[in-house]
Amino acid sequence: MPMDIRLGDVVRLRKQHPCGGYEWEVVRLGADIGIKCRTCGRRVLMPRRKFEKSVKKFVSRGDGGVTGRGSEGIDVPPVP
Ligand SMILES: [Zn+2]
Repeated sequence: MPMDIRLGDVVRLRKQHPCGGYEWEVVRLGADIGIKCRTCGRRVLMPRRKFEKSVKKFVSRGDGGVTGRGSEGIDVPPVP
């Protein structure tokens, strides 16, 4: 099942950005996912598959998401 990714989602990636940031905001959806570093503001495009493998956790959800539940994010199990 494909991962549910929405514009405005904030995710934590497994790998740290050179600027020191871990959190990224989803700014573009498509075959490639566009994400923006919340620390330095840099935008990066990566294939959806790679993005899904890189995500460690959803920090917060974008529009139409699971907001208002009071949960502190959703853990994503590691990909073998
Ligand atoms: Zn950065």
